Amino acid sequence: MSVLVYINSINGLSKSAFEVVTYASKIGGEISVVTNGDLASDELQKLGQYGANKVMIDRSVKTNDTEQITNVVANAAKTVNATTVVFSHDLISKAVSPKLSVRLKAGLVSGAIEVPNGNTIRVNVFSGKAIGHVTVKTSTKIISLLPNSIQPEVTGSDCSVEDFDGQAGDAKIKVIDTKKPEGEIPLPEAELVVSAGRGLKGPENWGMVEDLATELGAATACSRPVADIGWRPHHEHVGQTGVAIRPNLYIAAGISGAIQHLAGVNGSKVIVVINTDAEAPFFKAADYGIIGDAFEVLPRLTEAIKKFKASN
Ligand SMILES: Cc1cc2nc3c(=O)[nH]c(=O)nc-3n(C[C@H](O)[C@H](O)[C@H](O)COP(=O)(O)OP(=O)(O)OC[C@H]3O[C@@H](n4cnc5c(N)ncnc54)[C@H](O)[C@@H]3O)c2cc1C
Repeated sequence: MSVLVYINSINGLSKSAFEVVTYASKIGGEISVVTNGDLASDELQKLGQYGANKVMIDRSVKTNDTEQITNVVANAAKTVNATTVVFSHDLISKAVSPKLSVRLKAGLVSGAIEVPNGNTIRVNVFSGKAIGHVTVKTSTKIISLLPNSIQPEVTGSDCSVEDFDGQAGDAKIKVIDTKKPEGEIPLPEAELVVSAGRGLKGPENWGMVEDLATELGAATACSRPVADIGWRPHHEHVGQTGVAIRPNLYIAAGISGAIQHLAGVNGSKVIVVINTDAEAPFFKAADYGIIGDAFEVLPRLTEAIKKFKASN
C-alpha cells in the first residue's frame, strides 16, 4: 500500500501538515509527501517525524495555482503508485481534489474525520449536523481530512527530501501581492477560539475579547454581521458562509446562535456561551452556558485565568 500526502508548504509547515501526515501513517504503508514552493529541505525533512518516508518537492510551482498543483499531485501519485491520496480539507484541496479525482478515476471523500475502517470513512455532512459513512469502491481513493480531527503524533525521525519534476505545465495565474495576517493563530487550526457577535455593540469593545484570547493563547472569531459591518476582518467570520472550525474550546459571547453560525462551529469539542438572553438559541448547543452580560463576564474570565496561571 502506498499513501501520498499533499502538503501546501508555501507559507511554511502548519499544524494541518503534521495532522495529515499523522493521519496517513495511521492508514499505513509507504508514506510519501508531495509539495511545491521554496521551503528548505531541513524544514521538510521534519515531516518524517510524523511518519513520512520521503518528501518530494516541485520547486518550479511557487504559487497556489491549482491547475499546476493538480498536475504535480497526479504525476506524484503515478510515480509512487498511490492507492490513497490525502489532503487537508482547505481551500487548495477543495479546488485540487475533484480535478484529481477525475484524473485518477479515484473516489473522493471530502471532510473525513477519522481514519478509514476498511473502505468506509466517516465524514461530516450537512454542515456538521450529521456524520456520513462513505464507502469508496474505486481501487484508488482520495481523502481530505478536516483540520483538528486528529492530533499530530511524533513517531519517527527526519526523512529524505528529493526534488521532483511534477510536469506542472505553464502557470495560469500571476500573484501580484500577498497579504498574510501576522502574529495570529490561523483560525481553522486553532485549538481554542474566543468569538463575539453583535451583542458587543461596537468594534471599540473587542479589547476584552482579545484580552481573554491572549490569556488563553486562543484565536479570535466573530459572527457574520460583525464582519459585514466592518467591526472585524472577514477572515474571522465563522459559520455556514465563513470558516468552519473544530476547536477544542469555543467561547461565544453576545452571539445568538443562529443556525448559519452553528453550522461552522458545532464541531467544537466544548462550547461555552455567554448571553444576556436565557432564551438565546445558542444555549441549546452549549456545553456550558453563562446567562450574563459579556461586558462583565469576559473581563472576569480573563482575571480568573490570569490568577489560575499565576498560581500554577
Ligand atoms: C444565507 C445566510 C448565511 C449566513 N451565514 C452566516 C455565517 O456564516 N455566520 C454567522 O455568524 N451568521 C450567518 N448568517 C447570519 C445569521 O442568520 C445571524 O443573523 C447572525 O449569526 C447573528 O449574529 P449575532 O448573533 O452576532 O447577532 P444577533 O442575532 O443580533 O445576536 C446578538 C446576541 O447578543 C446577545 N447580547 C446582547 N447584548 C449582550 C451582552 N451585553 N452580553 C451578552 N450577550 C448579549 C443577544 O441576546 C443576542 O442573542 C447567515 C444568514 C444567512 C441568511
